[in-house]
Order: sequence, then C-alpha cells, then structure tokens
Amino acid sequence: MDIGHNVREILREIDEAAKRAGRSGAEITLVAATKTNPPEKIREAVLAGIRDCGENRVQELLEKKSLGAYEGARLHFIGHLQRNKVNRLVGEVSLIQSVDSSELVNMIAERASALGIIQDILIEVNIGGEDAKSGVAPEKLEELLEICESRRAVRVRGLMAIPPIAAAPGGNRRYFDQMHKLFIDIKAKKYDNISMEILSMGMSGDYEDAILSGSNMIRLGTAIFGPRQPLR
Ligand SMILES: *Cc1c(COP(=O)(O)O)cnc(C)c1O
Repeated sequence: MDIGHNVREILREIDEAAKRAGRSGAEITLVAATKTNPPEKIREAVLAGIRDCGENRVQELLEKKSLGAYEGARLHFIGHLQRNKVNRLVGEVSLIQSVDSSELVNMIAERASALGIIQDILIEVNIGGEDAKSGVAPEKLEELLEICESRRAVRVRGLMAIPPIAAAPGGNRRYFDQMHKLFIDIKAKKYDNISMEILSMGMSGDYEDAILSGSNMIRLGTAIFGPRQPLR
C-alpha cells in the first residue's frame, strides 16, 4: 500500500469533485482516519501531505500521540465518546467531532474550564435515524445547540454525520443534502457562541458525493491506508 501515492490521488480527486461543485479543493479539509494504523504509517501519511488526523478511541489516541504519531498534523477525535473518557480527551485534540448530548457538552465544558481552555467541537447528527448509531436526532439538534450557547468553554464549529451504509453508489446523497440544509439553516440563525464553519461528512466510499452536497471536511481511512486489520 503506497500511502503517499494514495494521498496524492485523493487530493487530486478532491480538487476535481470540488470544481464540479463550483468550489475549490482548498476549501476541503482531508482528515486521515487513522484508527488501527501504527504510528509509522501515520507519519508516512503526514509526510505525504496529511494535515489532519482523526482517531476513534481515546486510549489508542493517547498512546499513539505519546509516540509522536501525529506530529505535524492537527488531531481530531471522531469516534463514539464515552463519558468516562472525557477528562482524558479534552485539551488533547483540536476538534472533538462526535458530541451528541447535553451530558457530553456539559462534561467537556467543565473539563475545558478547569484546564482554562476552549475546546472546539462538532455536533454529530444521526441523519439516517438509525437506532444503533450515535448522533443527536435532527429534531433535537436545536435544543442541544441552545445548551451550547451558554457553555463558554466549548465552541461549536459545525456538524458531523455518518450516514447509513449505502446500498448503491450515490445512495447517501439525500442524507448529505439533508445535512447541508441543516448546516445552512443553523448558520442563518446566528446562534451565540456557535459558528457553522465545518460540515464533516464523507468517507472512503462516498466522499465525492459528500463534497457535491457541500461537505468541507471528509474523513478517509481505507482510501489512504488500505483495508484495516482488526485491532488486537
Ligand atoms: C473509520 C472512520 C472513517 C473512515 O472510514 P473509511 O471508510 O475507512 O474511509 C470516517 N469517520 C469515522 C467516524 C470513522 O470511524
């Protein structure tokens, strides 16, 4: 697996998809989803031009961070966040992408406040309404944002979504379009303490569609690193 080659190809495809949407590739942030990949491979990706890495597990993130795996890149948390891991995570990453409840918002704010920092977050939306998925239901989103308005140690920078696994190519366009509409509607409402700048959606199988629907942050694992080995 030639990681450098993959990264260059992907950057070119991002550029093309962006142009088809009348945008520029420079507007789109490529986050390498690094779960299960060892520090050497992550460093290879950073050398090839990756500027953002996303991890799914707090323990794995802290271990790999202590080994210098992400040096030269910003670090994101993109996995399901357990409450008992919040205190270890806050302050370790530039962006926590997977915040989906008032409990998590409150815990992150409390920890950030104790550290004297402001923690940037995204709100994860369960756009496909799937029972087994994380994310706040679209109809509960505004209620959650209203809570975030007064939590000054967190700053909501946008939205994240993981749509259902598509049965056919293009199958997720409607979810991506729904997310983009939510993003635009919320931006227009000008909530206090909330800046709708980031719309994080699109993975290896569907990132071009996500870009066509208005995504400006995609999270790719397989396309960069190849198929994942099961962890431990
Ligand atoms: C693993 C993962 C990705 C990347 O998935 P690929 O299909 O390998 O590109 C993106 N987002 C999240 C939240 C992930 O857990």
